[in-house]
Amino acid sequence: MEIAFASNNKHKLEEVRQILSGLPLTIHSLADLGLEVEISEDGQTFRENALIKAHLAAKASGMISLADDSGLEVDALNGAPGVRSARFAGDKADSSQNNKLLLEKLKNVPFDQRTARFRCVLALVTLAGEEHLWDGTCEGLIGFEEHGQRGFGYDPLFILPAYQKTLAELGPEIKNKLSHRAMALKNALPYLTRIIHLSQLIPSPSGRGLG
Ligand code: IMP
Repeated sequence: MEIAFASNNKHKLEEVRQILSGLPLTIHSLADLGLEVEISEDGQTFRENALIKAHLAAKASGMISLADDSGLEVDALNGAPGVRSARFAGDKADSSQNNKLLLEKLKNVPFDQRTARFRCVLALVTLAGEEHLWDGTCEGLIGFEEHGQRGFGYDPLFILPAYQKTLAELGPEIKNKLSHRAMALKNALPYLTRIIHLSQLIPSPSGRGLG
């Protein structure tokens, strides 16, 4: 079965492909499909943003579409940066500027109070416009400096307590088993398995399976 993934973030796409690699599923990015879609994220919650993105992708691609909206919630910052994670240090900020600002804001916060979680909401929109949502979280602590070269975004600052290492040090072998994205996809698995099975039983004329 084929689906579209509504993100221009190559790292997220790669993680989703790797996490779902056991399923007979081809996951196309909008760029793969030659679609230039302006992805707006002006919702107030992860859920709203995930649904906005999945609907845009379904409309543009004519395929069942999956979207991920995710971010980091830091307890000492009352849940910030949250939905603004990608734009924490400004609308055009990159990860290194966001990470720098996060360290600055937490500079007087001791280690045991640097608790945080990554949160991911996955939205799937069918061709009939039906919506499905799943979420996942990953608990950790924010370090005092960046460690590791793998991953993306806040990964070099996000320490998994069980390993005493950042996600950027642990890499995809561990991250893709324990991350917020992995947990949300695990919750989506029964539904995905079911629609893949149905699409195999009743292939649509386009070969793209059921909506
Ligand atoms: P959005 O879902 O495209 O709005 O952006 C999510 C933002 O949250 C990313 O740009 C990162 O800053 C952060 N983020 C989400 N998931 C991860 C992750 O797995 N690792 C590191 N940062 C993440």
